[in-house]
Amino acid sequence: MVREAKKIPVETPATAVPGGDPNVVPDGRVKPRLPTIRYWIDAHDRVIRVNDAWARFAAENDGGPVEAASGILGRTLWSFIEDATIGSLYRDMVLLARKGRSVGFGFRCDAPGFRRIFQMRISGGKADEVEFASTLESEEAREPVSLLDCHQPRNEQYLRMCSWCQRVHAKGQWVPVEAAVVLLNVMSGPAVPSITHGICGDCHGRIMAEISKLRLAS
Ligand SMILES: [Zn+2]
Repeated sequence: MVREAKKIPVETPATAVPGGDPNVVPDGRVKPRLPTIRYWIDAHDRVIRVNDAWARFAAENDGGPVEAASGILGRTLWSFIEDATIGSLYRDMVLLARKGRSVGFGFRCDAPGFRRIFQMRISGGKADEVEFASTLESEEAREPVSLLDCHQPRNEQYLRMCSWCQRVHAKGQWVPVEAAVVLLNVMSGPAVPSITHGICGDCHGRIMAEISKLRLAS
């Protein structure tokens, strides 16, 4: 979800977990749902709470202990967002949430072996707190994409990925990550490119339309 935004809790691309993906039961079936992942910021935009599901999900993504997830507490939301356009969208959405306008949108947060679609809901609370809640809507298994595996060695090349649809900017167009891997021949060397996050034109238009609709309704 906001990653850039590489570090944003909801934008962090899910990655492989040693010992297997915890969402896959032994017979290979995929569990249908994860608990809703939530974090909260205070009136100064500092992360003040995460729920257990958030901590577990972050630990799975980073391959680290659940306790490490508490390292984000006290940091501002904006310290996780490097991309100016994404920062501007989130500022607009946080402002709307504090005015009582709940903002919702879908986004991709894949694991190497799974396509995942989440729904995000940003809502205001007491004392200008804002809640960010991400719920898994669908999950589909695929051949693992090592470009999304955080344990994969990285080279000096950077690829730009949309934080919302997870398409990759390759040769002048935004394409699915599986297509980008082929188009750019990224698996030909011992290391794969690093990933930075931005937003594609389609997703920017979609989010701006939602923001505009909520502003008009205010
Ligand atoms: Zn996009």
